[in-house]
Amino acid sequence: MLDLIKLIKHHGYQAINDIRKAKLMDTHRGFPVIDEAKYSGNWQDVADCCPVKAISLNPVAVDLGKCIFCGECEKISNGAIEFTNEVKLASSNREGLIISSGNNYDIYSKEAVKSKKEIHKLFGRSLKLRQVSAAGCNGCEMELGACGNVNFDMGRFGIDFTASPRHADGIVFTGPVSKNMAPALLDAYKSIAAPKIVIAVGACAISGGLFAESGQINRSVLDEIKIDLYVSGCPPHPLTFINAVLDFLGIK
Ligand code: SF4
Ligand code: SF4
Repeated sequence: MLDLIKLIKHHGYQAINDIRKAKLMDTHRGFPVIDEAKYSGNWQDVADCCPVKAISLNPVAVDLGKCIFCGECEKISNGAIEFTNEVKLASSNREGLIISSGNNYDIYSKEAVKSKKEIHKLFGRSLKLRQVSAAGCNGCEMELGACGNVNFDMGRFGIDFTASPRHADGIVFTGPVSKNMAPALLDAYKSIAAPKIVIAVGACAISGGLFAESGQINRSVLDEIKIDLYVSGCPPHPLTFINAVLDFLGIK
């Protein structure tokens, strides 16, 4: 017992105290800020450098539902598109992920994820989620696994992953949805009792990401699945996922 107490004292308290205020290193690529005036070259060249066609023009905008945060556009535009280390990159609707010039992080981080009273009432104290990797590369899946580790400790908010959709209140899916995984995703979704929530995590899940044009994916199953929360990234950082879910649940 004494050894155990010594060990705990030695390790100290390892969980991040305030998940809401935790900051990442400056080098982390998070919310993009766009200042068109900063770049005098041809913006079409910037759009063309994007491997996932996430940049649209007039006005310049980055679609966080497609972006894989490679940083190429930041280099080509000489910083006119600049990735900050801000972690809130989620939205309750697909359009909310399109960030154009003039978008302000302070406003975005407060307004993009909408919480509803009934969701707060039902799941605010306990939310069990089933994770389905619909052909993800394991990057998103690893970060979701990290959400429950001793540092991020998502379980302290009553949010956990379960081993069966029958025990879950909602589904978190990753990956571009391959032909093989499409029926499994739909089965898992249908196995969860209503009311249920659906969270799409990562560029692949939201738009197909790098695999959007592959003949091996089948995203038509998503016509039957209503997505409640979109969490961007490739992969999203645990702080991005946890903050998104807390905002969605209306937990301050
Ligand atoms: S950082 Fe995103 S928007 Fe920029 S080039 Fe890479 S994928 Fe495209
Ligand atoms: S979004 Fe990126 S990290 Fe996530 S499954 Fe796709 S390629 Fe992997």
